[in-house]
Amino acid sequence: MNISQESILALRGLVECEPCNVVILSHTNPDGDALGSSLAWAEALRRLGHKTTCIVPNRFPYYLEWMTGVDEMVIYKNDSEQRAAAAVGEADLIFCLDFHSLQRLDAPLSELIASNTTAKRILIDHHLDPPQEFDVMFSHPESSSTSYLVYRIIEALWGAQSVTATQAEVMYVGMMTDTGNFSFSNLTPDLYQSLAVLSATGINIPQIYNNVYNSFTEGRARLFGYTISRKMKTLRKGTVAYMSLTEAEMRRFWFQQGDSEGFVNYPLTIKKMRMSAIFIEHKDFIRVSLRSRGNVDVNLFANRYFNGGGHKNAAGGKSFVSMDETIAHFERSVEEFAADGGLA
Ligand code: 5GP
Ligand code: MN
Repeated sequence: MNISQESILALRGLVECEPCNVVILSHTNPDGDALGSSLAWAEALRRLGHKTTCIVPNRFPYYLEWMTGVDEMVIYKNDSEQRAAAAVGEADLIFCLDFHSLQRLDAPLSELIASNTTAKRILIDHHLDPPQEFDVMFSHPESSSTSYLVYRIIEALWGAQSVTATQAEVMYVGMMTDTGNFSFSNLTPDLYQSLAVLSATGINIPQIYNNVYNSFTEGRARLFGYTISRKMKTLRKGTVAYMSLTEAEMRRFWFQQGDSEGFVNYPLTIKKMRMSAIFIEHKDFIRVSLRSRGNVDVNLFANRYFNGGGHKNAAGGKSFVSMDETIAHFERSVEEFAADGGLA
């Protein structure tokens, strides 16, 4: 990964200065990478004397609560609007991590960010197609996670030896979760070199794995079994799978936020599967999550049929019609996509 020296110089100019007020913002339904990249970057800036506030739009899953520093984050929807408004109002720098466009934030948080017209905005992200709405951009879709990108930026600015064990631990969470424990694409030799540096700080890698992947509730295990066994449907001779979960179904299994994370990957353990989708009912919409193998481009699919996006092999969007209509739309879309060669 080649990080532009020009962007590093611009960033150095912004952060190596008199202490100022910094907001670090990440995406809705924050995951391991959103939290890991934000926390590591916040620690780096705090060490320079800046006052940093990490803001996420809503709660993170319970199995990430152990991460150092998450209890100081401002969770916007948890009655923290005042704290967020104060931090954004006085911010000199606003960093957007692990999401590529301010348009992906819902109102009123998006309006709050827009209301500060003087702060410099800096993007650090690995999603495709970022709009040009930032003063400084680190947009690297080839990076397997934003946490890895943050590692590279910290290394370029202050050297690998500056990385502390707490930064290493949270960045490791982001790298591990966004790569499916180092099993997806973009696993470069440079990534493994960075892992050697993180490991050398003394972090306990098996414990991090356990904290994230072996810390679910019984309800989550049973919901997973139910979803795969009863709700997985296949199309096109078993090469496309989709699953759906209504709010009532999730309640039956004592659903907690984050419990359905990763379900969408499971159909891809079937050898001939090319694409997998899950539809999760929320109060006002249905969340669509898509995964694919190889050349099947679900970023394109999400963009074309669900007004969303993401990465080539992992993307998402929203549907504002009923579950039945969403499924019918998905089935039609798969046929059209296949006819255009999208599943070849
Ligand atoms: P997930 O299925 O894990 O929620 O999301 C997979 C990827 O797709 C993530 O990188 C996420 O940022 C992206 N994504 C999910 N939903 C949306 C959406 O509504 N719009 C866009 N542009 N990207 C999305
Ligand atoms: Mn990410």
